[in-house]
Amino acid sequence: MPTEPAPTLRLAFDGEALAANWRALDQLSGQAIAGAAVKADGYGLGVERVVPVLRNAGCRAFYVAHWSEAAAVAAHVAADSIAVLHGPSSDADVAYARESGTVPVINSPEQARRWLAGGGGPCQLMVDTGMNRLGVRPGDLCDEAVGTLDVRLVMSHLACADEDSAMNAAQLARAQSAFARFPAAVKSLANSAAIALGAEYHFDVTRPGLALYGGVPRAELAPHVATVVRPEAAIIQLREVPSGESVGYNATFTAPRDMRVGIVSLGYADGYLRAWSDRGMAMLHGQRVPVIGRVSMDMIALDCTAVAQAREGDWATIAYDLPEASAISGLSQYELLTGLGQRFGR
Ligand SMILES: *Cc1c(COP(=O)(O)O)cnc(C)c1O
Repeated sequence: MPTEPAPTLRLAFDGEALAANWRALDQLSGQAIAGAAVKADGYGLGVERVVPVLRNAGCRAFYVAHWSEAAAVAAHVAADSIAVLHGPSSDADVAYARESGTVPVINSPEQARRWLAGGGGPCQLMVDTGMNRLGVRPGDLCDEAVGTLDVRLVMSHLACADEDSAMNAAQLARAQSAFARFPAAVKSLANSAAIALGAEYHFDVTRPGLALYGGVPRAELAPHVATVVRPEAAIIQLREVPSGESVGYNATFTAPRDMRVGIVSLGYADGYLRAWSDRGMAMLHGQRVPVIGRVSMDMIALDCTAVAQAREGDWATIAYDLPEASAISGLSQYELLTGLGQRFGR
C-alpha cells in the first residue's frame, strides 16, 4: 500500500503537561512517591506516549488492569515495576507473570493459592476495605495461602475519594489495621482524588490515574493539574446553510438565519458521543464555534458564521477541558478520556 495521506483527526498531546502533572501529584503525595495507573491504554491516550514521559519524570510503579496490557508497558519500563490489578485468574496468567516478570496483584485466597501452586514469588496484595470490587476481605487475611505470599506491596482502594464521604475515614481505618499485618511491605491506598484527602491517606506509594491525564476529581487538585490532550479535527467541508433549513440527523437544529457551517471529521465513533449534540464547542481561529445538530458517527457540524477566515482544511480544537466537559456532557471525566477512539492520528 502507498503511504497514507495525512489524517483529518488528531489528538494533540502535551507531554510536558503530563510530566508536570506527575511531578505535582508526587509532591502532593508528601513523603509517599507517586506511581501511575496506565490501564486502558493509558486512559485512552496511548501507553506508547504516556509511559516514556512518566518514566522520564521519575515514575517507577505502573498499574494495568489486564495481563494483555502489560507487554506494551514493559516495552518502556522494567517488568517488575508493572503490577497487574486483576491478578491471576488462570494458571496461564500465573505462567505469564512468572515468565514476563510482571507482578500480580493477588485479590483473593483463591488467587493466592493459584499463584503459590504455580511457583509464587514476589506479589502485591489488594485488601478490600469496603468497595466490594476486588480484594481479600480483612477477615480472610489469616488464610494460610495469603499468609504464605511474598507480599512486597499491600494496597486498598477507596470507593468515594472524590466525595466528602464518611466512608473515606472508615476505609482508612480498615486499611491501617490490615496494613499493620504486613510490616515489611510497601503500603498504598490513594488514587488521584485520595491524594487530596491528606497525609494519612498517602502511605508509601500513591496511584494516580485520572489527574495525570488532566482530570480533576476533587476541586483541591484543580490548581495542580494541566490539560494533557486536546482533540483536533479538520473542516472537510464549509457550506452555506440558508435560514430555515435543518442540519444533521433528525433535523434537531434549524438555521435561524443564513449560516456558514463547517463539517468536521469527528464523530461518536471517535468517542465524541451524542451527548455533545447541540452542546459541544470548538475553537477555530481563536473564536468559539458551537456544535449544531446531532453528532454523527464520523462528523459534526460547527457554526462558523462568525469566523470570516474559516477555510476547508482548517483545524478546529474541540473544547475538552475535562471538568467542564463532564459538567456539560453528563459523562464522567474517566469516560471522556477512555472513550477517545483509535481513529485519532497520534
Ligand atoms: C484505576 C485505579 C487507580 C487510579 O484511579 P484514579 O481515580 O484514576 O486516580 C488506582 N488504583 C486502582 C486499584 C485502580 O483501579
